[in-house]
Amino acid sequence: MVFEIGDLRVEPGTTRFGSLVAAQRPAGDLTLPLTVVHGSEPGPTLGITAGTHGCEYAGVVTCIRLGRELDPKKVRGTLVMVPVVNVPSFNNRIPFVNPIDGLNVNRVFPGDPYGSISHQIAHTVFQNVTLRSDAFIDLHSGDMYEAIPLHTCCNRVGDPALDAKAEKLARLFECDLLCIRGKGIDEVAEGDRGQGVVFMGHRTHVSGSGGASHAGKPTVLIEAGGTGSLDPAVVEMELKGIHNVMRYLGMLDGKPDEDIPHTVCYGMYFIRSRFGGLFFPDVKPGDFIKKGARLGEMQDIRGNVLAEFTAPIAGVNLMMYTTPVRSSGDILLILGRTDD
Ligand SMILES: [Zn+2]
Repeated sequence: MVFEIGDLRVEPGTTRFGSLVAAQRPAGDLTLPLTVVHGSEPGPTLGITAGTHGCEYAGVVTCIRLGRELDPKKVRGTLVMVPVVNVPSFNNRIPFVNPIDGLNVNRVFPGDPYGSISHQIAHTVFQNVTLRSDAFIDLHSGDMYEAIPLHTCCNRVGDPALDAKAEKLARLFECDLLCIRGKGIDEVAEGDRGQGVVFMGHRTHVSGSGGASHAGKPTVLIEAGGTGSLDPAVVEMELKGIHNVMRYLGMLDGKPDEDIPHTVCYGMYFIRSRFGGLFFPDVKPGDFIKKGARLGEMQDIRGNVLAEFTAPIAGVNLMMYTTPVRSSGDILLILGRTDD
């Protein structure tokens, strides 16, 4: 059967490159790139998005590679990819937000056709790709000045069968770390507000991956690479993992590798500072940190120590900015809880 999406009508056994109109602008449409690998035999639909943060490049290149390298004649089902979701951010090398409306596209899912441009982009992706998928993968990295360890993530939404399937898919990627988020994890009470502020306010359902989970789709989020760079080894890891997912879903021939070991952590605990200045950390991304261990200190512009920070929970360091500057309220680091 022909697969229709955006400006494409894709015959079985072919790959086509097209676009989705996300918004009508006075001087022309804002479009998102679209790649469809439509297998010659029926099967599941796998949706993949990348570039929701426009300076996270590994996933973008992974989508490009999949579109060029997969032989649609050997695929069952359909792979639908949006290699760059946040096109204005990508085009202008603006981290975190869409420069047109200043919003983080990964916080406005499932979007709104009558909202500002980020809402319209999210709506377009959600309606055309997420809701048509049987499984969904969202590819992220550390953004322009975010350093992260490789991790594969899944959400729990409280549906045991769906949650188990999402975790199964997340475990098909060769990342040391598996981060499980969502129901029963994210609602953990706020912690110590004395020096840093701990909270788990990560509102899962408003992200591209969380929105997909809440729409009933088994979903994986990959965090790989970062700091505005492009590491070929990270792209290879993503390609290998996605091939493994496609084998698991029956979209490609062969037995999936289901025996990949992972260290599990839970949630995203944003450790924020109420002091601004220059942060001198004692820890690095990927470090396993004991509760009470020293995280570093904040100095003012004259070199006075404003605060020393210690870890409020035991966890693995999932993200640190590579720049020392912090304003009050900024993130010092993000911990994935390990004492579960
Ligand atoms: Zn991201």
